[in-house]
This record gives sequence, C-alpha cells and structure tokens, in this order.
Amino acid sequence: MGNRPTREFDFELPVGYMDEDGRVHRTATLRKMSGHEEAMLADRKLRQNAGKLVTELLTSCTKKLDDVTSVNRQLIADLTSADRNYLLLELRKITFGETIEANYRCPACGGTNHILEELDELPVNRADNGGPPEIMVELEDGYEDKNGEVYTTMSFRLPTGVDEEKTANIVKSNASRGTNALLSRCMVGLGDMPTNRREALGTKILGDLTMGDRARIERAFRQEMPGVDLTRELTCEHCGSPIKTTLDMKSFFSLPSAA
Ligand SMILES: [Zn+2]
Repeated sequence: MGNRPTREFDFELPVGYMDEDGRVHRTATLRKMSGHEEAMLADRKLRQNAGKLVTELLTSCTKKLDDVTSVNRQLIADLTSADRNYLLLELRKITFGETIEANYRCPACGGTNHILEELDELPVNRADNGGPPEIMVELEDGYEDKNGEVYTTMSFRLPTGVDEEKTANIVKSNASRGTNALLSRCMVGLGDMPTNRREALGTKILGDLTMGDRARIERAFRQEMPGVDLTRELTCEHCGSPIKTTLDMKSFFSLPSAA
C-alpha cells in the first residue's frame, strides 16, 4: 500500500481575513483544482467577469481559513485582491507546477519574448498581523472643491474581490476609467471632507486630479501594497531594449483573453 498523495496544502496569506470579532485569519488550506474547476474556466459567462471567475475558483478550492471551515462566496469576495492573487498563484503551483511559460511583447520592436518563469521565485510582501493596512497619499496639487478649498491628504483601503467584480466591466472598456472607479470605491478619506460629501463627488475627485498626483497615488499603491510582486524587468532578445512589465495572472490557467 502506497501513501495517498497530499491534495491539501496550507498557505499564509499576505494580509489575512478579519472576522466580525476583529480576529485576523491567515492560514488558508487549498486543494488542487479538478475537472469541476476546469468547467468553470471554460464557462463563457463567468469568463466575462474576471473578478467573479476568481471568486468562484477560490471558493471552490479553499477548504478552510484557520478554524473557519464554512468558506463561502461572500468570504472569498471580501478578501483583499492581494490575498486573492496570492491564492491564485499558489493554486496554479499546486495544480500545474511552479514553471510557467510567459510571453512578453517588446514595446520597441514588437517581437515576442518567451520566458520560462519560476513562480516560487516571485517575492511576496506581507502585512503585519493587524489586518488590511490603509494606504496614505500626500498630494502635491490636491483636489480643489467648488468653494476653492484644497484637500491634499488621501487614504485608501485595499481593494477586495467585491471591488474587482463591480469594476470588471468598466476596466474592460476603458482602463483609466476602471482605475478611477476602483480607487474611488477604495477611498476612505480626503482631508477633513465629510464622508457624505466625498461619496457624493464619487469618481469626479479622481478624474479632477492632476496627472502628477495620479502618478503619486499609483506609486504609493505599488510601494505599499502587500501581496505577490508581479513586476518583471527583462531585456528583449530581439533588439536588446529593456522591457518593464508585469506577469499576466490570466496566463496562470491559460485563459485566452478572459478580461
Ligand atoms: Zn525588442
């Protein structure tokens, strides 16, 4: 009699799930993908919303989160995108292995670079144990309201699966508007502006910012976001130009143009 091969694996989430009692759960138990999930990946309707597809996949393959054994759709949708992307990466590794062939198009010459990536070499930034951190940004130009008052401090919570699902369609049609929609959902503070006024202004705030301030927000997210660092820097094998890009997570499960 041989040993039954392990099909369940434990992973430590970069951020963790905070329950109603304020306890943070960080150990997720995953099982390998099966034919059931293969059917999800092929489902045309699910593939139209990448956020929903990820929620369904992870709900199906996450057995428990610490002592929480009733991992349902809502819980997975409430996880930060940092944790969801990390779980997707681990799911890919336990199911299909750690090596993936990625294709990067060179912006200078248009040539395609085929690279074998080792997924276990991607760095993972972990938050401390206090649950999801907030991201603070000091703006240089700031947001000016119609009375001429200028607000220069912005704070954001981390995006979650719910945000991914709600903004997926906007992202598909216009990436910049998609970013505005996502960021305004996640904005939790703008100087001393009252919450109801901030929420009434909505995406207008982000749209009115100068490009310099928008770049400051992007930089703050890049530097302070916990999770898997998917940024890649390589040299084009055809023309020698430097290529700065990110590893495309959709390629993890060979999803042709899912989003
Ligand atoms: Zn090139």
